[in-house]
Amino acid sequence: MPPSSLQSARGVRDVLPAERATWELVEGAARRVARAFGYQEIETPIIEPLELVERGVGGDTDVVRKEIYLVHSRAEPDSRLVLRPEATAGVVRAYFQNRLDAGPQPQRLYTLGPMFRHDRPQAGRYRQFHQFDVEAFGSGAAALDAEVIEMAVGWLAELGLTGFVLELNSIGDDACRPAYLELLKAYYRPRKEQLDAECQRRLEVNPLRLLDCKAPRCQPFKAGAPRITDHLCPACGEAFAEVRRLLDAAGVEYRLNPYLVRGLDYYSRTVFEVSHEAVGGAQSSLGGGGRYDGLATALGYPNTPATGFAAGLERVVLALERQRLAPPAPSPAELAVLPDGEGLAVAAARVARIARGSVRVAVDYSGRSLRAKMRAAHRAGYPWVAIMDPAEASREVVQLRHMASGEQREVAWRDLPLALRTPGGPTPSRDASGGVRPAMPTGEARA
Ligand code: AMP
Repeated sequence: MPPSSLQSARGVRDVLPAERATWELVEGAARRVARAFGYQEIETPIIEPLELVERGVGGDTDVVRKEIYLVHSRAEPDSRLVLRPEATAGVVRAYFQNRLDAGPQPQRLYTLGPMFRHDRPQAGRYRQFHQFDVEAFGSGAAALDAEVIEMAVGWLAELGLTGFVLELNSIGDDACRPAYLELLKAYYRPRKEQLDAECQRRLEVNPLRLLDCKAPRCQPFKAGAPRITDHLCPACGEAFAEVRRLLDAAGVEYRLNPYLVRGLDYYSRTVFEVSHEAVGGAQSSLGGGGRYDGLATALGYPNTPATGFAAGLERVVLALERQRLAPPAPSPAELAVLPDGEGLAVAAARVARIARGSVRVAVDYSGRSLRAKMRAAHRAGYPWVAIMDPAEASREVVQLRHMASGEQREVAWRDLPLALRTPGGPTPSRDASGGVRPAMPTGEARA
């Protein structure tokens, strides 16, 4: 039991140093891929006005009905602010508020950061989680849909992930979807009593969502339901064909899934989702996206076509761990400076400052014995240690020891950056008077 009973809030998690290496890999690859496609990073606030999120995410979604975290300060108990549950609405706001709409189009933007939803926590589902979010504004070209899909898949592939599945669909637009929804309702109405309560409600308010219902009792009816891809208008049909042509040419594999939908009116045409079995169960979705040409108008801005995706970093990290692709935790630093004696803090700090020219350096300022310091350095996995006693400090030299080989030699302080840059073992200092010292077992050095 920890010394205090204070614990984190429910459904949130700490990313500890051992796991951060994997996170850095995931975030680094996201940034690299985004930049390679000409996307620029934007960072928007975590708190946004409630109204933006309500309009942006849609009043009839679980996210808005149940999962929003409201924020108020004691000074302003009535303020209507929220912790963002997703990034898109905030990025759209920022795009218009900062007049990026007046610049060259399309504007290709990406962001990485925490999102908040009050959902029932379980493996792969948290109340604070992180997303890689990509948006392209100001172009209705189907090619941009294919571009963001290629980015999402390229990112996962760069990480070495295999076995993820890309599903693709088109949900039409204002020209063809209304007539399709009437067909869908006409199909489901005679079967209404057999649906579960939630789908009975959806039938009237949001019929498209009937198609992605997971409830067992609703499943038998899906196969006979009309498929939107059979009812696309010519423009939507051509856009869908163009997306598929581009993905085929890029060698991106996908499955057509006529039941993949988005329940909000502002989505149109392309929708896609990437999932991975290794993440498991209901949480297998790594990310998804599509075209949302109607969002800007829904938020009260000028009509602006847009497309994008959002992926969950926790789930990608989990998939990497499950596929044993997570890198081992690196040592905290590459060199530990171990002062051997009293009054050496200033000298040790100086040695560290010099060595930081080429490696990560930590100083052991404790008063314990050199033997204990060596043992600790070994346990922490430092590849190098620099040992110095008062006599050596006055000559401005250290004993530089390569932990794996046990090889140890005297190196002048100023030569440390060069000596440490040499892979595999220390290089004798140009000024070093002493030869190579006999290797000593770890923990035995001069102790
Ligand atoms: P969404 O914004 O709901 O379309 O979700 C996009 C992606 O974010 C999902 O595919 C997940 O990878 C991730 N995600 C969504 N909600 C959560 C959550 N509560 N915990 C962890 N990841 C999440």
